[in-house]
Amino acid sequence: MKVMAQIAMVMNLDKCIGCHTCSVTCKQAWTNREGTEYMWFNNVETRPGVGYPKGWEDQDRWRGGWERTAGGRLRPRSGGRLRRLAQIFANPDMPGVEDYYEPWTYEYDRLLSAPKDSPNIPVARAKSQLTGEYMPTIQWGPNWDDDLGGSPQTLTEDPIVAGMSRRIAAEIDQTFMFYLPRICEHCLNPTCVSACPSGAMYKRSEDGIVLVDQDACRGWRMCVSACPYKKVYFNHTTGKAEKCTLCYPRLEAGQPTVCSETCVGRLRYLGVLLYDADRVSQAAAVADPQDLYAAQREILLDPHDPEVVRAARQAGVPASWVQAAQNSPVWDLISTYRVALPLHPEYRTMPMVWYIPPLSPVVDEVAAAGLDGEDHRVLLTAVSEMRIPLEYLAGLFTAGDTDAVELVLRRLAAMRSHMREVRLGREADPAIAAAVGMSGAQLEDMYRLLAIAKYDDRYVIPTASPEVPRGMTAMGEDVRTLLGEGAPAACGSAVGQGTEGPVSLPLPTVRREPMPTAGPGVGVGVAGHVGGR
Ligand code: SF4
Ligand code: SF4
Repeated sequence: MKVMAQIAMVMNLDKCIGCHTCSVTCKQAWTNREGTEYMWFNNVETRPGVGYPKGWEDQDRWRGGWERTAGGRLRPRSGGRLRRLAQIFANPDMPGVEDYYEPWTYEYDRLLSAPKDSPNIPVARAKSQLTGEYMPTIQWGPNWDDDLGGSPQTLTEDPIVAGMSRRIAAEIDQTFMFYLPRICEHCLNPTCVSACPSGAMYKRSEDGIVLVDQDACRGWRMCVSACPYKKVYFNHTTGKAEKCTLCYPRLEAGQPTVCSETCVGRLRYLGVLLYDADRVSQAAAVADPQDLYAAQREILLDPHDPEVVRAARQAGVPASWVQAAQNSPVWDLISTYRVALPLHPEYRTMPMVWYIPPLSPVVDEVAAAGLDGEDHRVLLTAVSEMRIPLEYLAGLFTAGDTDAVELVLRRLAAMRSHMREVRLGREADPAIAAAVGMSGAQLEDMYRLLAIAKYDDRYVIPTASPEVPRGMTAMGEDVRTLLGEGAPAACGSAVGQGTEGPVSLPLPTVRREPMPTAGPGVGVGVAGHVGGR
């Protein structure tokens, strides 16, 4: 058993109101430069729908993720090294700008500078941010089918709807919709890393964040094709790949990602998971795609198990990280309550952003039929009988296994019914919890985490007293050798060998050369650099 730590996220889809605050704040923080106009590291899709880029889930077309060979081994769907080498100058499996959208802006200046007494109403025309030309008709955007807008034209292009029966597909947009916020999954078995010919994509060993080394990237874009979630982008100005960084500079300072911090629905949870790195490839290669969800859950290790704690410490996981894993809301949602599911486990990348599927389509339908949407008998029956949400959600989260989704929805329904009794001051019927294999106390704990958790309960990020400052390993020797004079005592110790006591300074110190007061070189005296990109 080789224990490693991973920062993971869970999103509770019932609480997403589709406001796009997360996307906009992420864009302001990370992709507001030239060459990044079309990039949305965080985007929010309306489902059913085609998403961004258009039809990203159609792996027959894009060949992203892994496939299992007849011999039980995994190989990237984009092909082995030889196929990738043959396509290095002309890769047919890459989305074009028409699949993302042509970014545009408006001539806002014309509104501001229009003469006061002009007889004409000033107009701000749309201009392409790629060519600078006017765009008379905008034909697609990153969120074109928001709130099912235009869905009669595009719905059949949703690969999950296309896989459902024709009758269901015809009715689906009248039946339900929900929002799906997406970021990079920071996968345990990332195809983007394995497909990169330059070794520029890497997964940080200390926290599992997947990053692009901008110096090493040669712009081959194999990562763009190989990522099944289409969460690596190509910057056409710098000629380098870029992607979600999980806001690592914020995490290193103990703060949640920008998308989590600003989420209006407070639906994101961040925490540490411990997993057995020795079993990742084996779990990703199980024969039946419907077993992948269980296989992925099984390689996650119980942070309360003394055996796991011992192995984690031996493997160099700091004590503060083990403690964070024990308090992790993500562990509770995935393993204790089993209400979170991975997005498209069938891609075999072992994604680390999980989702609690929405119960609201079922509740809305029950309420619309004039029934009591909080009565557990009505709700539990409805969950089992409403095949459309179940089949669609199973297509997203469990490779089509409706039983796994049904169990989650039943648990959410039971929590709802149980809590109504509690809030009304009545004794909750123990049969409600028993019907979903839980106790009343567990349902109440789950309610506290899902409904009323405070900031510190939703984000458990270990930096308060680390033995080794975060990010040190990824920075390499050049930064580490600079940490001598003036650095905190623990900075010099190897990972996992520091003391268990608190260290006063969690971030590395970069020593600067003495600055000359005048002459050539003034202002260029920084002796090292900090950062993984
Ligand atoms: S989701 Fe992120 S980590 Fe996973 S393959 Fe895509 S870019 Fe790589
Ligand atoms: S900010 Fe939160 S509620 Fe709003 S769209 Fe993003 S994830 Fe949903």
